[in-house]
Amino acid sequence: TQRFIWPMAQFGQIINMYQRARASSARIFGLMDEPSRLAEDPGAEDLTVGNGDVVYDDVSFGYDEETIIENVDFSVEGGETLALVGPTGAGKSTVLKLLLRMYDVDEGAIEIDGQNVSDVTLRSLRRSIGYVGQSSYLFYGTVRENITYGTFDATDEEVREAAEAAEAHDFIENLPDGYDTMVGERGVKLSGGQRQRVTIARAVLKDPDILILDEATSDVDTETEMLIQRSLDRLTADRTTFAIAHRLSTIKDADTILVLEGGRIAERGTHDELLENDGLYAHLWGVQAGEIDELPQEFIDRAQE
Ligand code: ADP
Repeated sequence: TQRFIWPMAQFGQIINMYQRARASSARIFGLMDEPSRLAEDPGAEDLTVGNGDVVYDDVSFGYDEETIIENVDFSVEGGETLALVGPTGAGKSTVLKLLLRMYDVDEGAIEIDGQNVSDVTLRSLRRSIGYVGQSSYLFYGTVRENITYGTFDATDEEVREAAEAAEAHDFIENLPDGYDTMVGERGVKLSGGQRQRVTIARAVLKDPDILILDEATSDVDTETEMLIQRSLDRLTADRTTFAIAHRLSTIKDADTILVLEGGRIAERGTHDELLENDGLYAHLWGVQAGEIDELPQEFIDRAQE
């Protein structure tokens, strides 16, 4: 009877919600087991993004007593791309977790179009920021659901356009059930490059004011890499973008490159300016371009301090 059918339907919905929640931005940096303990101001208002200017005003932060981010100070003009590079553990992801307000800064402030991220609703903040990267992943559901996640009223036409912009439409059409193919755990297995393009399509559809790109290190062939790069160029054009890169060639054209070392900004500038500087960036570039064999010892010593 009604009473038995109804709870079952509810149960299905709850499972579905749970699966969607797992793909939420709180999960972005693998923080699902670390739910946000941050309080929202009772009077918090929604963030309204215009230009998309972002300012880090002398930000310092530590997960515990130890200071991880120290006096980080920079600004990004709306629509520009800021790249963060530096050795593992330098604090690149931490800088971006603070933007998403996974944690509150200890000192200083982060503002988006003049609004302190600590003063706005978390919901509006995370709605305004899109993420494509290593730990963005697919949940068990159809390709269409994976693309529309976060955008509730998308039409099939919009989903298709997003997939086309992400260079994903062609392979999706060749899946057994096209856009209705089940993917994710237990679903059809997609390659790393395909999964990445589905998450790019998700970001295209979400159309966020601010984008975080965390370069995936997954091995893809050159052609796939070219497709991914082309779709990312489309996605980042005219949108404030933060890019964490391991291969410097992918962020060479960024408007500003920040080189982090031990939680501090060691160098900043454009690619050409940094080469001119002949510091850490120039040497990392030299290594990646095969011009020098290895990073000089002084830089390795400094990174380990
Ligand atoms: P990067 O992205 O440049 O590799 P991270 O921001 O991930 O650097 O890490 C910076 C430092 O913060 C590292 O020493 C790391 O061990 C530490 N760290 C990162 N996440 C946490 C956490 N959740 N709790 C405590 N320490 C952390």
